[in-house]
Order: sequence, then structure tokens, then C-alpha cells
Amino acid sequence: MSDKEVKCPWCGAVGVPTSLITQKEPGDVVQRYCGACKQIIASYLLSAGNFFPKIRVFENKYVGGDE
Ligand SMILES: [Zn+2]
Repeated sequence: MSDKEVKCPWCGAVGVPTSLITQKEPGDVVQRYCGACKQIIASYLLSAGNFFPKIRVFENKYVGGDE
């Protein structure tokens, strides 16, 4: 699994986002931050037994809380 460059929807910078893994109730949640503006680009759940993570991609709009 290798990081790939993505374009930040917030500031438009292209780069490899910073990953932060947080252990939460349903499983480990990976949040990916833009290296330039530190906004969350995407988050997905790393759950045991589920090889393919459920990916949530953040869009450049204001949304409610993440669950
Ligand atoms: Zn950014």
C-alpha cells in the first residue's frame, strides 16, 4: 500500500497527504490531512476482516459532524 499524490479540495495543493490513525469504537479510523493546509482530505475505516476500507472523501463544502 503506497501513498499517492492527491489534490487537496480545500487549498488545491497537490501532494502526499499526512495520515493519522485513530483507534475508535468501530475500528481504526485513518484520516488523511493535506500537508499544506492541514485540512482533512479523506477518512476511512480500517476494520478487521474487511479488506477493502470504506473510504469517505471530503468535498469542499461544509458538512455536519462525521457521524
Ligand atoms: Zn490543502
